[in-house]
Amino acid sequence: MAKLQVVWFKRDLRLQDNAALTAAARHGPVLPLFVYEPTMWSQSSRSGRQDQFMRGALTSLERDIAVRGGNLSTIVGEVTEVLSDLKKSFGGFELHAHEETGDLWTFGRDGKVRKWCSSNDVVFREYRQFGIERGSKTSRNGWSKRWDAMMEQPVLPEPTAINWFDWKRGRLPEPQYDLKLEWVQSAGRRAANDTLDSFLTQRGEYYQKDMSTPLAGESGCSRVSPHLVWGSMSMREMYQATIARQDALRSGPSEKRGYWLKSLNSFVGRLHWHCHFTQKLEDQPDLENRSMILAYDALRQSNAERLERYENGMTGYPFVDACMRYLAANGWINFRMRAMLVSFASYDLWLPWQESGKVLARLFTDYDAGIHWPQVQMQSGVTGINTVRVYSPIKQGLDQDPTGDFTRRWVPELRSLPGKAVHDLETVAEAPTTYPRPIVDHKAATTYAKDQIFALRRDPVLKAEAAAVMEKHGSRKRQAKRRRA
Ligand SMILES: Cc1cc2nc3c(=O)[nH]c(=O)nc-3n(C[C@H](O)[C@H](O)[C@H](O)COP(=O)(O)OP(=O)(O)OC[C@H]3O[C@@H](n4cnc5c(N)ncnc54)[C@H](O)[C@@H]3O)c2cc1C
Repeated sequence: MAKLQVVWFKRDLRLQDNAALTAAARHGPVLPLFVYEPTMWSQSSRSGRQDQFMRGALTSLERDIAVRGGNLSTIVGEVTEVLSDLKKSFGGFELHAHEETGDLWTFGRDGKVRKWCSSNDVVFREYRQFGIERGSKTSRNGWSKRWDAMMEQPVLPEPTAINWFDWKRGRLPEPQYDLKLEWVQSAGRRAANDTLDSFLTQRGEYYQKDMSTPLAGESGCSRVSPHLVWGSMSMREMYQATIARQDALRSGPSEKRGYWLKSLNSFVGRLHWHCHFTQKLEDQPDLENRSMILAYDALRQSNAERLERYENGMTGYPFVDACMRYLAANGWINFRMRAMLVSFASYDLWLPWQESGKVLARLFTDYDAGIHWPQVQMQSGVTGINTVRVYSPIKQGLDQDPTGDFTRRWVPELRSLPGKAVHDLETVAEAPTTYPRPIVDHKAATTYAKDQIFALRRDPVLKAEAAAVMEKHGSRKRQAKRRRA
């Protein structure tokens, strides 16, 4: 009789374009397994909003398997314990899963699983699902081309006639959190399909322009991020649907194209970035905790009061606070404002990026360690290779919220101020309001911060370290020129 094939669903909660499932189905009866790991969920970057989204994606997968005659075994516990239990119940089996680039905790867990498999004579096969490369021979040279090749491989069709194998089913613990969300993003395969489809055909035409502001970005950005985190749809499916849409636009009347081709090109560029950043954490998992250039870790100091005011949107900088409160209520904010929020914490407040990064991670429904930590480091100026970019909270407010409406909506203490007066600190100071005075002086604080950072950048020893960082992690193209521009 063919050996039992266990498919360990992790961050690939789908049946389509799922290499682990496809391979397992070819080899024998398939036991679909999901392990809910309380220790992972107790990590300080984790939060209820992420858990809640994952549960939605899991329910969707469970339903999809049930419709096809199977049962997803959802077990609560540590993966190695679950595997031991499986071994006791069935003897030998093979294990299939996708490679995962997660945080240090999942990195350690995967190491334990590999060790368990090798000492228990269980074959463990891992498959790629992103353009991220694993192994000691990986190099940034030619990486971009290999990413393209990976995305252009045919999407794997859902395997038909799976011989499902039934095992026990546990119950997830009752959620113990208050989501504190005004808006909850729908999860699961259908939601992922609908989100991508509406972006590609209705919402995405002005993507390049809309992505800069939190309000236009809300509908003008793709909003696929948490679906990519939990894998309700694969990146390759998204990539190929986008290319197909571009091809359809090209073969249709030119007057219907508008800004679509450029926007979708830019979207493909972002998918590429996803893997470019994640590759950094894959190659160096401790980047979650330490700066790419270690010397930068000694610069900044913890300050509980500053961190608390930052987290609560009470810094006295109206646009920063509006963005923080919007993020807290929606679980999402656009890229530029994420960068500004990190800049404010790291330069104005001079807080260690590890601390403010965790505050943001918990607020992001789409928290993805592989993107998050390399981005937080880049925006904090600790990589030695990226331009030091300090955002002015006032300029960003005037540029991205010129009417002041967004800021008034999220900082109602200032609703009596008309138009863009809401961004003027002197006018704010004179207004009869409980809203706090600025926590620091932006100019003085960021001048000090830049002096400190540039002093390190001039250090010859650190310059040599930066060259090594560039070799290991740097993009080989300043601006990836997308093939189909
Ligand atoms: C400090 C900081 C932290 C971030 N943390 C996360 C995170 O934890 N999880 C996360 O998914 N994204 C993160 N991003 C990247 C980006 O802001 C979000 O991916 C994006 O805002 C999600 O919305 P969207 O899906 O509509 O994006 P779109 O603009 O429509 O982009 C499509 C997809 O491309 C990828 N992408 C987009 N921008 C970037 C980028 N700058 N770097 C890498 N990949 C990108 C994402 O997977 C995104 O879903 C972070 C950015 C910054 C500056």
